[in-house]
Amino acid sequence: MASIRIENLRKGFGSLEVLKGIDLDIADGEFVCFLGPSGCGKSTLLRSIAGLEDLDGGAIRLGDRDITHVPSAKRDIAMVFQNYALYPHMNVRKNLSFGLALNGMKRDEIDRRVDNAADILRIRELLARKPRQLSGGQRQRVAIGRAIVREPKLFLLDEPLSNLDAGLRVTMRVELAALHTRLAATMIYVTHDQVEAMTLSDRVVVLDKGKVSQFGTPLELFYQPANLFVAGFIGSPR
Ligand code: ADP
Ligand code: MG
Repeated sequence: MASIRIENLRKGFGSLEVLKGIDLDIADGEFVCFLGPSGCGKSTLLRSIAGLEDLDGGAIRLGDRDITHVPSAKRDIAMVFQNYALYPHMNVRKNLSFGLALNGMKRDEIDRRVDNAADILRIRELLARKPRQLSGGQRQRVAIGRAIVREPKLFLLDEPLSNLDAGLRVTMRVELAALHTRLAATMIYVTHDQVEAMTLSDRVVVLDKGKVSQFGTPLELFYQPANLFVAGFIGSPR
């Protein structure tokens, strides 16, 4: 795990300015949510941290390493997407191990990591099943498992629960909180759901049109919103 520092990050698509100078300091082991309405730049910011966007400017540090120009695969970061796709023809064990094998990791190290992830996510009895034999929540756990086996310094999750039904979303929220404790990892979690952000996070980054509107604990956002946008979005008493 590691701290992450973002300085004056800028990113646009053609004439559209999406990230307009983002500064953020996230501590080692923190659970931080990026919260904001659809289109405000949450996914672009997360993808930039993962190294999946060509930046227009700014710098990103992971721990004591400047990763601004490090290729995505070498950043020690794992990302879980909203529309996670498992390989339909591979069983769960293979889905978890495939990426590691591709990178040339030794068989016994792969098995250790897969078994460890399966224990943490309680999917050990599912390892021989194909994705079509899994429920939505089980599939989501496998998708998260693919990030865990990489043992990254930083986990990025982009609305990982938004395709699940409401009841399952609540269950998975609790599991994610437990996972954060268990892994003691730094996690950044994107959501447009205030309740999700307020219940899961150590601190919340409220994004408004490509800028940080406020960065604080859930209580700070609730009782001391920095502006009307935050107050309206969080639904605070003011
Ligand atoms: P969010 O995740 O907060 O909903 P995004 O980061 O996905 O927002 O998008 C922010 C803005 O950037 C939106 O206006 C979106 O249409 C635009 N955008 C995102 N990705 C691209 C892209 N690859 N090409 C062009 N525009 C994009
Ligand atoms: Mg998004």
